[in-house]
Amino acid sequence: MGFSSRLEGYTGRVREVLESAGVDVGDEIEITIGEHEKIKGVLMSRYELADPEYIVVKLPNGYNIGVRFRENIQVRKLLEEVKKPAFRPPEKARPIPGLPRVTIVGTGGTIASRIDYRTGAVRPVLTAEDLLSIIPELASIANLDASILFSIFSEDMTPNEWSMMATRVDEYIRRGVDGVVIAHGTDTMGYSAAALSFALQKPPIPIVFVGAQRSSDRPSSDSATNLIAAVKVAGYAPFAEVCVAMHDNHSDEVIAIHRGTRVRKNHTSSRDAFKSINTEPIAFYKNGEIYVNRKDLNNRGSNQYIFNPKFSDKAVLLKFFPGMSHEILEDIWMKGYRGIIIEGSGLGHVARRLIPTLEKILKDGVFIGMTSQCMYGRVNMRVYSTGRDLLKIGVTPLDDMLPETAYVKLSWVLAQTTEIEEIKNLMLTPLAGEIGERSIP
Ligand code: ASP
Repeated sequence: MGFSSRLEGYTGRVREVLESAGVDVGDEIEITIGEHEKIKGVLMSRYELADPEYIVVKLPNGYNIGVRFRENIQVRKLLEEVKKPAFRPPEKARPIPGLPRVTIVGTGGTIASRIDYRTGAVRPVLTAEDLLSIIPELASIANLDASILFSIFSEDMTPNEWSMMATRVDEYIRRGVDGVVIAHGTDTMGYSAAALSFALQKPPIPIVFVGAQRSSDRPSSDSATNLIAAVKVAGYAPFAEVCVAMHDNHSDEVIAIHRGTRVRKNHTSSRDAFKSINTEPIAFYKNGEIYVNRKDLNNRGSNQYIFNPKFSDKAVLLKFFPGMSHEILEDIWMKGYRGIIIEGSGLGHVARRLIPTLEKILKDGVFIGMTSQCMYGRVNMRVYSTGRDLLKIGVTPLDDMLPETAYVKLSWVLAQTTEIEEIKNLMLTPLAGEIGERSIP
């Protein structure tokens, strides 16, 4: 099939319909849905991260809407290329005295890619001016400044990107900003939040990760509400924690603020996908107010800040599965990895047949830590003989630490020391709220 060179971003069935109607981005079109509904506007390009099932149309009032593809949809060209979509940068906003200074660091993902309802132009990320033109409320919350660190999907992050993010945030801390917001893809946002929790311990200001589950050209987008809450927390929260701001439930009203070491994405598409595991969110944002939910938080202005942005790529996170063979473990060992976090079954187990191989690896000075693949609870390796035997050979139980957090922490710890006793000691010492109080049996 010959593709038009200008139907930027459109794929699959949607692209076929547009092609057979002979329309291109920039044309004025009419979309008829079923018998009665008609939508007129200019066909806009669909940026890479938007939902492929939507046609993006700029309405005469200047706003873009996404029209979901349905079988009963018809597209008709009205006018050839009325206006080429072009992005006109908005004016630079004047700082308002008395408002906190908040910096937004764009790293990619849905939220940082194109939060522009008006122009539809395909531009990867944001400037402070873009943001203010799209979410004007932000101007009355903080004096914003924004920069782009990189523009990648979060599944492409590595420990190297964690280091770069931590270093950029540290620069802003030194410049005296009141809070930093990191716009990030949601897939591995929990890992990055954990990484910055270890790299920037007890920071003097809040460092707030924020993402969006639905892109901003969809009516159900969570970009704006999450971002407003994140900026508010960064600028005003009394605590200075590395945290994640995302929808708490299906409504737009409450945004939960999770601790960076205790949060996990639990749903592929729902807006309330992020939950604190084995603990409560540290705060909630509702109707413009921040409600603090815990007492044991690092205070804004803390003078105990420790910056250490190094991570090792010699850590592995491995999920145990019933048919797992010892060769997988041997391979990891042979490749020179210096630490393995096992996501074991139940209270912290792997098949008995793997124990001799684990013992061999441990004797070589490789750290092996045990977490659980259960969603909630803590490991307890004293209940069953398998657990006791794993303890005997030197596997370290990691309490209620999330497997992802344990993996990130191990990457950080391995960059600090090669001494196995010190590695064990650091892994078991709570550094950023990653190990919980014993409230859950
Ligand atoms: N896969 C995307 C990412 O994590 C999804 C998102 O942007 O939220 O970057």
